[in-house]
Amino acid sequence: MKGTRLAGKVCIVTGAGSARGIGWATVKKLASEGARHIYVLDIATDELPGLVDSLRGEYLETQITIVRADVSDDDAIRSACDRAVQENGQLDVFFANAGGAKGGFNTFIKDMSADTYLGTMKLNALSCFLAVKYASEAMSKTNPDGGKGASGGSIILTASVAGLSSAQGAVDYSSSKAAIISLARNAAHENLILRNGVRVNALCPGFVRTALSDTFLGTASELSSVNSGAPGAVLRTGVPAELANAVCFLASGKSYYVTGQPIIVDGGLSVFIADNP
Ligand code: NAD
Repeated sequence: MKGTRLAGKVCIVTGAGSARGIGWATVKKLASEGARHIYVLDIATDELPGLVDSLRGEYLETQITIVRADVSDDDAIRSACDRAVQENGQLDVFFANAGGAKGGFNTFIKDMSADTYLGTMKLNALSCFLAVKYASEAMSKTNPDGGKGASGGSIILTASVAGLSSAQGAVDYSSSKAAIISLARNAAHENLILRNGVRVNALCPGFVRTALSDTFLGTASELSSVNSGAPGAVLRTGVPAELANAVCFLASGKSYYVTGQPIIVDGGLSVFIADNP
C-alpha cells in the first residue's frame, strides 16, 4: 500500500544488499511511503540491480542509487552524505544498518582474538559513529528547523537486543551493539544542545529471519523454540518488514518527539532477558 509519510525525503540506507535483510525491507518501505531518492550502500551489491529493477515499476517517484562501499570507511560515508546533498540539495534520513559479527556467533572470549573483537567494533560501532558524524552535519546544514518544527533529519542506527544484555559466543557483537545504543544517546544529546533538529535513535531487533541470523538460528523453517525462554513473548522470529515499519516511523515526522532512545522490536523477548540472558 502506498503512503506519503516520507514524501520528498532523501535517504541513505546501508546494509541493504540482501533481498532477505532488514535493510532491503526498509528500502521497500521508504519507497512505498514516497521517498524521493534512496541511496543503497553495501559492500556486496550483486543482488541490488535486480532488486532495484523489481521496485521500479511500482514506485516510479523514487530514485534508487546503488553505492558499493565499506561502511567503516570514513571517506566513503563522508562522500555518500556529500553526494546526497549535492544531487538533491538535502539529506533527511540515514539508516545505518550494515553489521555483523566477525567472529561468528560461537566464539567464547578465551578463543577470540583482539583482531576479531576490533574488527566487529569497526564494522558495527565505528560505522555508526561515521554515519552520525557526517549525516548530522549534512542534515543540519540542509534541513535546519531549530528544533521547533516537525521536520529535521533522522538518523537510525541498527543496534540489537544483544546490546541491552549479552550474546553468548559473540562478546564482540554484543559490545559493539551496546556502544551503538550509547552513541545514539550521546548524539541525540549533542544535537538537542545544537538545536539542529537532527534526531538519533537505535533500533534494537530481537531474532529476525535473515541471511545473518541463519548463521546462529540454523535454517529450519519452523523455529518454535525462538523466544520460548521469555514467557508471553511472540513465539516466532520477527520478519524484516516488521523492523522496516519501525524504521519508517523513526524516519518520519510522526516520531519527532523521539530521540536518543533504544527502540526495541523483539516480540517481547527483552522483557525477560534481563533475568534470563
Ligand atoms: P543481512 O546480512 O541481510 O544484512 C547485513 C548487510 O550488511 C549485508 O547486506 C552485508 O553485505 C552488509 N555489510 C556487511 N559488512 C559491510 C561493510 N563493511 N560495509 C557495507 N556493508 C556491509 O542481515 P540482517 O539480519 O538484515 O542485518 C542487518 C542489521 O540488523 C545488522 O546490523 C545486524 O547486526 C542487525 N540485527 C539483526 C538481527 C537478526 O536477528 N537478523 C538481530 C539484531 C540485530
